Order: sequence, then structure tokens, then C-alpha cells
Amino acid sequence: EDQTTTTYDIELIPGDGIGPEVLDVALPLFQDVADDYGFEFDFTRRDWGTEYYLEHGEMMPEDGLAELADADSIFLGAVGHPEVPDHVTLHGLLLPIRKGFDQYVCKRPNVLFEGIESPLKGYGAGDIDFVVYRENTEGEYADIGGREHRGLGHETAVQSALFTRQGTERIVRAAFQAAAEREGHLTSVTKSNAQAHSMVFWDDIVEEVSEEYPGVTVERLLVDAASMDLIRRPHEFDVLVASNLFGDVLTDIGAQITGSMGLAPSGNIHPGEEYPSMFEPVHGSAPDIVGEGVANPLASVLSWSMLLEDVGEEAAADALWSAVIGQISDQSAPRTPDLGGDAGTEAVVEDLRSRL
Ligand code: ATP
Repeated sequence: EDQTTTTYDIELIPGDGIGPEVLDVALPLFQDVADDYGFEFDFTRRDWGTEYYLEHGEMMPEDGLAELADADSIFLGAVGHPEVPDHVTLHGLLLPIRKGFDQYVCKRPNVLFEGIESPLKGYGAGDIDFVVYRENTEGEYADIGGREHRGLGHETAVQSALFTRQGTERIVRAAFQAAAEREGHLTSVTKSNAQAHSMVFWDDIVEEVSEEYPGVTVERLLVDAASMDLIRRPHEFDVLVASNLFGDVLTDIGAQITGSMGLAPSGNIHPGEEYPSMFEPVHGSAPDIVGEGVANPLASVLSWSMLLEDVGEEAAADALWSAVIGQISDQSAPRTPDLGGDAGTEAVVEDLRSRL
């Protein structure tokens, strides 16, 4: 026995709807990659999510975070249920993990692959290739201890946002670093004209951090203009950095213009060693197609590639990413219906296994 084989402890939260459906089909592929590159996974599977909520009144057990804390990484399939409000799934599972493990970088690559048709006229393979760095722990989703409320008896609701120097600086710096390693262009997206406190503070910090990165050109856009420009001139973007809310919106635009929700991967990354990061497809539980075996597994496969890169298995990560690129650029390869084909999840995964 080879005593030097690395084993990664991976927490699996398959979740709801197409989450478990896709993960069950894709796991043998992930196992293949580990075999090919000489490492091992030790999986722990958690049945948390909306089914768990309907039974127990909470999305995960009280000590859920503690159970995940020692993992090398976490993979989440999808959460959501037609009868469970979205704020329950968000506040019951996703936000506690993102905040509890200080996963302050939400990284979402948006690439138009060869063989995928963008809804934008005239855009082809390689024309769109940008990555969004979304602040993931504070901002507009910060729930500032008890101040948020919907006034009882008053037709008023209060919802504030929290921007700290530490929180803003670290996401901005991570984005600058990414830009420096890519094309050297950073776009900071705000609403500084209307939100004169938080967003002007953000602007000041971008200005300060930019001095550490003289090789990176900085563009500032208001979120309305940025939404327009992602449709009008997406080829000009390299790295975008934005607050929690704005990043959330921009990444959905990104997913659409690059072809399909079924292709968009994401990582909730804690850059240090202290806590595990979590990887998940951008799409939700897709209740409209659940059980049909036609969910596109590629967003999950690309998310798994990001997971591998994050734990340091870069060659394996590249192999998985390249298998996906190879498959979608091959007109004769199986495709799921969201990409215009008639193949099922299994056929797509089997084809990927043969490409590794
Ligand atoms: P949730 O509440 O879980 O976010 P949702 O239906 O609001 O669910 P998504 O699950 O992201 O949001 O689904 C949006 C649309 O995209 C649906 O029509 C769904 O079928 C489709 N879709 C999402 N993911 C995939 C996928 N992996 N393969 C194919 N279609 C998908």
C-alpha cells in the first residue's frame, strides 16, 4: 500500500431536486479523476435541505457547521422546494455556511465555450470570458443583529447593509490579485451615485488597493450600466468585483449570456486554511425537470473542477474542465435538452468519463 496517497475529506450536501440526481450520476466520474491522478476522496454525505426542513423544522442540525468544519472541502448540489420559501433555504443553510466558514469570495467564472450558442448575436467561442468576485459574507445580506424588521402594524420594513473595511478590502484585494493573474483588467461595480455611504466607501477602498496593483487597469461602473454593458460588450470584461447583492445579480446575467444555467459553476471560497470552502452549481433545484433524468450535470462537474483546483489538484481540475470543453465543442457528443440536445444526465457523464 502506498502510504503517501493523499485523501481529501469531502462533505457532500446533495440537497434537493436535481441536486442529488446529478451528484449520484456524477460521483463515478469524480472517482475516475481521483484514480487517474492518484488521490482519494473520503466522502461524508449529509441529508440536509428542504426535506430535512419539512421533517425537523430546520435545514440542518444545530451542530451542522461543527460537523463540516474539519473537511477539506464541501460540495453542495442544490437547495430549494416549491413549498419552502427561498429565504428559509438561504438563511437556514447557505448563508450560515458561507458566513460561518468565512467564505468571503464567491467566485463565478463566465465563459462562452465553443459549441454553445450565446443568446447575444455575433458572440462565439472565447468571446466571453470573465469572472465575477462577489463579496459573500456581508453587504446587503448582512442582517445586522435585530435591526432588520418588518414593522408590526406599520407598513414599513427596514433593511440595511453592512460594509466593513476588512470585509471590503479582502474581496477587492482578491479580485485585484485575480486580475493581475488574468488579463489585468478589473471592473468595480457599485451604485455610488445613489448609495453615497457604503458605495463611496467601497470606491475609496478600490482606489487604495489599486495602488498595490499598478499593472491592473480599473474601471468603475454603476450596477445599472454594468448590467447593460454585460449584454452590450461582454467581451471587454475580465474580472468584476461587486457587493453581495450586485454580484448575485451580475452572475445570473453572466450565466445566461454564456449559454445556460446548466453550465455555470461557483465557489464560496475561504482563502485561508482555517475553514473549508464550498463549491456548488449556480442553478437551483429545478423542480420543473426533477425526476426526468435530463438535468445538465456540467455546472456540477465544472464546480467539482473548481473544488479540485482549490484543494491543490490542479492537473486533475484541468482534466475535468478540459473534458467538458471537449464534449461541448463536439457536435456529435450527447447534450441535455437545455443545450438543445435530447440526451440524459447519465449519457453526458458517461461521455465525459470516456474523454478523461
Ligand atoms: P430554486 O428555487 O431551487 O432556485 P428555480 O426553479 O427557481 O429553483 P433553478 O433551479 O435555477 O431555479 O431553475 C431555473 C430554470 O433553469 C428552470 O427552468 C430549470 O429547469 C432550469 N435549470 C436549472 N438548472 C438546470 C440544469 N442543471 N439542467 C437543465 N436545466 C436547468
